[in-house]
Amino acid sequence: MKVFLLHTFVIIAFLLQACAVNLNNNEHITEVYFQEILNSNDKANMGLFFSLMPKGGDIHHHYSGALYAETYLDWAAKKGQCISTDSYQLIACNEDDDQVITIDSLKRNTRLYRTILEAWSDINFSDHYHHETEPDLQFFNTFSYFGEISGSFYRNGLENIKKRAVDENVQYVETMINAPPTNTTFRQSQIDSIKNYQNKNDTINLVKTFELMEQAIISNPTYDSSITAYIDSLHKYHEGIDDLDFKLRYQTYAVRTLNPGVVFGQLYSGFDATSRDTSNLIVGVNIVAPENGLVSLQDYRLHMQMFRFLKTKFPTVKTAMHAGELHVGMVKPEDLTFHIHDAVFIAKANRIGHGVDIPYENQPIKILEKMKVDSIAIEINLTSNEFILGVYGNDHPIKIYYDFGVPVIIATDDAGVSRNSLTTEYVKLASRYQFKYTQIKGIVFNSIQFSFLNPEEKSQVTSRLIQKFEKFEDEITQIIAD
Ligand SMILES: [Zn+2]
Repeated sequence: MKVFLLHTFVIIAFLLQACAVNLNNNEHITEVYFQEILNSNDKANMGLFFSLMPKGGDIHHHYSGALYAETYLDWAAKKGQCISTDSYQLIACNEDDDQVITIDSLKRNTRLYRTILEAWSDINFSDHYHHETEPDLQFFNTFSYFGEISGSFYRNGLENIKKRAVDENVQYVETMINAPPTNTTFRQSQIDSIKNYQNKNDTINLVKTFELMEQAIISNPTYDSSITAYIDSLHKYHEGIDDLDFKLRYQTYAVRTLNPGVVFGQLYSGFDATSRDTSNLIVGVNIVAPENGLVSLQDYRLHMQMFRFLKTKFPTVKTAMHAGELHVGMVKPEDLTFHIHDAVFIAKANRIGHGVDIPYENQPIKILEKMKVDSIAIEINLTSNEFILGVYGNDHPIKIYYDFGVPVIIATDDAGVSRNSLTTEYVKLASRYQFKYTQIKGIVFNSIQFSFLNPEEKSQVTSRLIQKFEKFEDEITQIIAD
């Protein structure tokens, strides 16, 4: 480590001089050292620096996308499931079918094992020639392979997430999980009505129909126990996960590519469970899946009205919403013009995930002003945006948000699929956008300040974070001075 960090005699001399001026100013010494590795674009040392640095929260985090394909294959083996060598899907074992093999046999076949990992994640996508799916499909298709098994061994999954976070000096994770089931389906006539009222901008009748849908959900005799069972089982799985140095919290989500009746049900049960869970383990609601999907685009405004309706029903529930995860050419120009706007102004989102199409929205300055004034943070996912949207470097709007004064947060999105980490996200942040050390520290503290932890929890995690930064800056100073 010392060899890596002892950069040049010049910097040591400078730093020792800085020490002489103020012996306790470890933050300044760390800042000068960081600026040196930043100026020389020394990414290896940035990796080391950010591995050691406390990183606060990872608050745009999908539970199923955070786990590695290797973990899911181990789970499949434990459950006695096999894999199809044809479709790469998990399948019931069948000795009479040579296209169905056990997970152990798969692991003995290196070529096939690697092929499965390439289908189940983004591994090696860009480093060799191969038949190439469009990157956004490659990314979202991975969920169709492991989706079925991702709900198994839930406790093991949470421990896995915690261990990885603690290992890379992350103090808090806010992860997205499925909403509780409502056990209610809606008549096609009701679905047609909400679409129809939405198309006519008839919000009065739209809200009346939402009220009827709400009644149908809550009058189902199994609904109440379904919510209670969901909360209870989450508490059980969560037991012992939190400690002095780490906390895990949960957002539920709706899938925007599904039938609007299903989306309404997922949102309703998610809002309800969040509102009822007074212990603040379930902290908010989100909406996920490809924003450029046909149904997602067609129902976008309807989804925003659902959020608006549920925010009035459950006023204490916070929402983080994927919005503006789009780029020029991916959709028709008009679909780039209103998604962040409507998430902020109609759905009343507390945080925005991605927000990449901000330069092409109809009223970008009005949106940025609102986000700044109301402290609606933007969750930036650099690796994900680069892979799925092809947006990186100077094409990425992170500086627009930052320079405008919108609170910026850095997150991993789907670290298992993308094979990234919060450390590598900070390397990208620094090396691409030249943020100074003190600015990066501000972004780290944002991840707690704008998290959905309650005020006491925020203050506890923030105090620990301050101590951890003191320790980190002391460590850097010691290494340099030795
Ligand atoms: Zn996401």
